[in-house]
Amino acid sequence: MIARKRALVERRTAREACRWSDGDTTRLWGEELPVRVVEAPSSRAERVEAKDGQLTLFVAKRWLGDSDQAVAHRERLAQAWVHSQLAEALPALFARHEAVMGVHASDVRLRTMKSRWGSCNVKSGAITLNTRLVGYPRHCLEYVVVHELCHLLEPSHNARFHTLMDRYYPAWREARQDLRA
Ligand SMILES: [Zn+2]
Repeated sequence: MIARKRALVERRTAREACRWSDGDTTRLWGEELPVRVVEAPSSRAERVEAKDGQLTLFVAKRWLGDSDQAVAHRERLAQAWVHSQLAEALPALFARHEAVMGVHASDVRLRTMKSRWGSCNVKSGAITLNTRLVGYPRHCLEYVVVHELCHLLEPSHNARFHTLMDRYYPAWREARQDLRA
């Protein structure tokens, strides 16, 4: 697993006071994007769109306001979208590295976590990734994927583990730095 620095957690917590309202900002693949909220013609037409340097939430009229329910609704919509972004990026990433490393993750799960970027259940072969990775440059996601796959070869963070990381993801130190920045 990859632990996060406490200061970072606190900074992110402050940032995540994001209420998904007009004028808020969010991060997508390392870029800071302004959030726009636009009225959708109906509930069924609700969607999220990242385009022209901004993230637009199209929501039904009753979810436009600043009530806790409206904020929670927009948060759910945004989270579902984040999941879809990750779900889109992950299969190719896993396929590529699994082929080279000769390992296979039995299951890949996404969770919003406070204290780790990812984890690997060595016994079952299941890997869990933090949905917050969507806010960081894409190579950070790749680094965490390779890190967790490495645990299928070596459970602990020992010298052998680092040798494996050097072999399968030579730029891992830079990526780790970017995750802390
Ligand atoms: Zn680890």
